[in-house]
Amino acid sequence: MLYCDNAATTSMVPDVLRAMIPYMKDKYSNPSSVYSFSDVPREAIMKARSQVAKVIGARPEEIYFTASGTEADNWALKGTFYRAKRDNNRTPHIITTQIEHHAITHSGEFLETQGARVTYLPVDENGLISIDQLHREITPDTVLISVMTANNEIGTIEPIEEIGALAKEYGIFFHTDAVQAFGQIPIDVEKFGIDMLSASAHKLHGPKGCGMLYIRDNCEIDNFIHGGGQEGGHRGGTENVAAIAGFGRACELARDNMSAKIRHVTMLRNYMIKRILYEIPYTKLNGDMRHRLPGNISISFQYIDGNSLLTMLDERGVFASAGSACNASSNSISHVLRAIRLPEELAVGTVRFTLSENMQRIDIDRLIKILKDCVYSLRKNKP
Ligand code: PLP
Repeated sequence: MLYCDNAATTSMVPDVLRAMIPYMKDKYSNPSSVYSFSDVPREAIMKARSQVAKVIGARPEEIYFTASGTEADNWALKGTFYRAKRDNNRTPHIITTQIEHHAITHSGEFLETQGARVTYLPVDENGLISIDQLHREITPDTVLISVMTANNEIGTIEPIEEIGALAKEYGIFFHTDAVQAFGQIPIDVEKFGIDMLSASAHKLHGPKGCGMLYIRDNCEIDNFIHGGGQEGGHRGGTENVAAIAGFGRACELARDNMSAKIRHVTMLRNYMIKRILYEIPYTKLNGDMRHRLPGNISISFQYIDGNSLLTMLDERGVFASAGSACNASSNSISHVLRAIRLPEELAVGTVRFTLSENMQRIDIDRLIKILKDCVYSLRKNKP
């Protein structure tokens, strides 16, 4: 099997599983209970908070665990909007982009029904926003800029540091959806001027259903999940201790040798891109080549239906995705490919391969052989 869909989710490594098991077995007590039996799960959460914080240079008390990256994104947008609306009694304005994950774009659309004004910045043909255009969109009512660190479909890394500097100049909160980038590339919330950041454990070999929102200590937003006093009273709900412990361990592993992993995966990615573009005619790489996630290869095959290619690859044990997994059930062209103005005949033939550090060159050689066979046979059978 060749699993090439690491942007959808990653395998959970044994070390992470080992870190989780005690809290599903004998250390099962509720971390909110005051008796000593709960000391161990309480400490596990504290340890994980600090492990997660280290990945982005944050302080442990600025990390709030959530049930997913989606929840973290919802919280950042809705929490900022409701706080601003209450405080200012004006129409809060949010700036985001046309290529965000639906957790952001659909939250933005929802907030428009609640009285927000939302600007969805266009991107260039590689998926990059323009800082000048962002600058021009800022108004006295702008309360939040939310731009993803890296795109899940085409892998483009946005100019986060410049966005952070601009937001700071105007005193506007800056949120970044770093679900695809957290633990994969270096991020420093201080250096990049980030006020809020979303991440998700399952994208870095941790468990599913566990995410976090970093909220800078002076960044005041409303709560989103109301309930008990967990997470400093800001996010109710009994903590998923096992998943949080696993997230913490996954963060520690991600930080170990991060630069060596980046080098290895980038080498595999460049090798694969080069071979596809040289050996398979009528192909186009999507996304920016210089500002690109190490493992992302989004390729459009002309004269091919992407779903037929994926089915054929699947039959041969290769697992990849069309655009992004979040769009798997919809046959329409993804909003990201539309935003980069990819012609329809290329968009329908787009496949995303996302590699992991566990792969080797020999895997890419096997993959290319299978891919070439599939593309040739689909094109041969095309009327
Ligand atoms: N944001 C981005 C950029 C993503 O790629 C994803 C998931 O693919 C999410 C948010 C949602 O994260 P989760 O799966 O934890 O809800």
